[in-house]
Amino acid sequence: MSSVNEKIAGKIRSIASSLLESGEVAAFLGYTTGSLPGMMQPYVARDAKEAENLSWSSFCVINLANYLPALLKSFEPPRRPNEPPPEGPLPKVGVVATGCWSRNMVVQIQENQIDRNRVVIVGISSRGMVDRRKVQRFVGNREILSMEEQANFLVVKGKDFEEKINRWDVVRDNCKTCTHPDPVIYDELVGGLSGKRDIPDRFRQVDEIEALDIEERWKWFQEEISSCIRCYACRNVCPLCYCPTCFVDDSRPQWVGKSIDRVDTALFHILRAYHCAGRCTDCGSCESVCPMGIRMRLFTKKLQKDVLELYGFEPGLDVETPLPLSTYKVDDPEDFIITNIKKGDKK
Ligand code: SF4
Ligand code: SF4
Ligand code: SF4
Repeated sequence: MSSVNEKIAGKIRSIASSLLESGEVAAFLGYTTGSLPGMMQPYVARDAKEAENLSWSSFCVINLANYLPALLKSFEPPRRPNEPPPEGPLPKVGVVATGCWSRNMVVQIQENQIDRNRVVIVGISSRGMVDRRKVQRFVGNREILSMEEQANFLVVKGKDFEEKINRWDVVRDNCKTCTHPDPVIYDELVGGLSGKRDIPDRFRQVDEIEALDIEERWKWFQEEISSCIRCYACRNVCPLCYCPTCFVDDSRPQWVGKSIDRVDTALFHILRAYHCAGRCTDCGSCESVCPMGIRMRLFTKKLQKDVLELYGFEPGLDVETPLPLSTYKVDDPEDFIITNIKKGDKK
C-alpha cells in the first residue's frame, strides 16, 4: 500500500475506532481489502477491534451511500409501513465519503432515505479511483496476481511479468471528469481538500455520441447493451435505486419482460437511466461492477448534461436546493419538453 493510502487508512481506523469505542456510532461503514488483486469490499465494523480491518486504496469503487439506508434501518425497532417512526434518538452510523458519495448522501437526505443527524460522515478528497478493466487491458490476457499501489504508479505482477503503470492512465473515466472530488458534507475530514476542478470537456464522450445522427445513435446504444445479461448489478450497486420493488421485478403489472430480448433490455436501460435523471452524481459504481463491461454510465451522463443545460442543476451539492424533477414551478422552462424529431435530425 502506498504511504498516502496507509496514512488515510490509519486515520480512518483511528476515527472509526474512537467513534465505536465511545458509543457515538453503533457501526462504521468503510472498506476492507478484497480477496482478488485490486479489489476493495464494503465493510461494516461493529467494534473497535473490527475497525482494525478498515482500509483504503484507489480500488474503492463501490459507492458506500448505497448501504446506508439499510444499515440505519437495521438499528430501528421493527414496525409496520404505516406506523410512525419510534420516538427518541436512534443509533448513529459512521461512514467514509468522497465527493460523489457525499453528494449521493445529500440526495438520500433530500429524498428522506437517511437522517443526517444519524450519520457521522468522515470525508476524504478523492484522487480518482482505478478502473480494473483499464489495468487488465494494459497487461492483455495475462493473469494479474498482485497489484501494489505506489504514490503515482501501480505495480502489476503476474506469473512471468511485472508492469509499472502510471496511475492516472488507468483512473476511471468518471473520476477523470469529476468536478467535485471533495466531500460536500462531512463531520470529520481525513487529509486536505483539493477544491473544485474545472473540466471544460467533461461531457466529451456524450458530445461525441450526440454528434451522430439518430439511426447511428440507436445503433450505438443497441451495440453497447447487446451483451447485457440482466444481472442487475448496476441497479443493485446504485444508491439511487432503493425502490422496494423495482419496475423490472414487478409482475403485476409486468412493465418489462425479464429476458435478454433486445427490446426488454433496451427498455430496462432507458427507464433506469431516466429514474436517475437529475439525481445521478456520476459516481461510476454501476459501470465498475458490470461483469460485461457495458458503459451504461454514459446514459446517465447524457441526462446529467441535459439537466445541467435545461435546469442549471447539479445533484447533491447542497441539501437546500430541491431536485428539479421533484418540484414544479409555473415558470419552469418547458420549451424543450415537446420536440418534433424527424428522421435524419441530429437532435
Ligand atoms: S431502476 Fe428505477 S424502479 Fe428500479 S430500483 Fe432503480 S429507481 Fe427504482
Ligand atoms: S446511476 Fe451509476 S453513476 Fe449514477 S449514482 Fe447510480 S451508480 Fe452512480
Ligand atoms: S451490470 Fe451490466 S450486465 Fe448486469 S444488468 Fe447492468 S448492464 Fe446488464
